[in-house]
Amino acid sequence: MRGDLAALEVLRPRRLAEALAALADSDRPCPIAGGTDLYVALNEGRAPARRFLDLSRLDELTGLETTPSGLRLGARTTYTELRASRLVRRRAPVLAEMAASVGAIAIQNRGTLGGSLGNASPASDPAPVLLALDAAVELAARDGRRVVRRRVPLDRFFIGYRETAARPDELIVAVLLPSSALEGWRYAYRKVGTRRAQAISKVVAAVGLELGARPRRIAAARIAYGSMAPTPVRARAAEAALAGRAPTSAAGRAAARALLAEDLHPIDDLRSSADYRALVAGRLLESLLGALGGFRPGLDD
Ligand SMILES: Cc1cc2nc3c(=O)[nH]c(=O)nc-3n(C[C@H](O)[C@H](O)[C@H](O)COP(=O)(O)OP(=O)(O)OC[C@H]3O[C@@H](n4cnc5c(N)ncnc54)[C@H](O)[C@@H]3O)c2cc1C
Repeated sequence: MRGDLAALEVLRPRRLAEALAALADSDRPCPIAGGTDLYVALNEGRAPARRFLDLSRLDELTGLETTPSGLRLGARTTYTELRASRLVRRRAPVLAEMAASVGAIAIQNRGTLGGSLGNASPASDPAPVLLALDAAVELAARDGRRVVRRRVPLDRFFIGYRETAARPDELIVAVLLPSSALEGWRYAYRKVGTRRAQAISKVVAAVGLELGARPRRIAAARIAYGSMAPTPVRARAAEAALAGRAPTSAAGRAAARALLAEDLHPIDDLRSSADYRALVAGRLLESLLGALGGFRPGLDD
């Protein structure tokens, strides 16, 4: 490790109010959860701070629970916990599927949802899935002696490359999934990388469909992508192209056309080319829609 660990100061609060008081300080520490993103920076000698706020003792950031309005996932929830949770597998199985595709087992054991959202990488695997699930982020800060909380819809949380709507004195406390997105919706997710494990995605897509029964129509769709823009993004033109249509390969093609014409403007970078990304993004959408809507992409309806 090239960073000088002995030179770092680590605060280890047991209560959320105490942690938030430290963040209200002018010499604000940098929050650290699983450390899987931060250790990379430390190892390369690019420590983002000298003082750290270890979140690992904060029970208020843990737990997966049903609430009157949906599901509440504590910010310290790891990928391993998502995979193992019966509640998640029953009510939002796409999240368990996503968690199984992150890094390898060691990263799944330590990496957290809050850390992924705090890091705000455009290549995050959780972000597109949570966008498709219409998630919101619960943030907390200190206001004098009080802890104040606010909710930010995830589609307004990512405001620029690795930039979020959270203020520096706020912690991500939980991720909230509304019941309206859990009942009557089906979800599918796929990540394309160089290999199955330990690969940052070249393209990642998540699709949610609400299907009406008679006639069989797409009542609503939510589609999100990662690795295609400076932030994870919703594909609203593709969503609009599907609304009210029967789930057929023609509808899938129309959505893919709208996606590439209006929603996504991929770039060339180290991991992939813009042309490859565009091709894969369109094919992924048709394939995920086919899996959810019960049609075979490419075949005439
Ligand atoms: C080898 C390797 C493979 C990986 N593979 C994948 C992959 O396949 N898919 C993927 O999506 N990611 C991957 N990652 C990235 C990383 O594991 C995830 O982003 C993980 O979820 C980060 O969580 P963490 O708890 O470790 O974050 P940390 O490193 O602890 O923190 C990350 C950032 O979030 C901030 N933060 C943490 N918690 C909070 C909070 N509660 N409130 C406010 N800010 C907070 C920190 O200050 C820091 O800026 C990989 C990383 C490595 C090293």
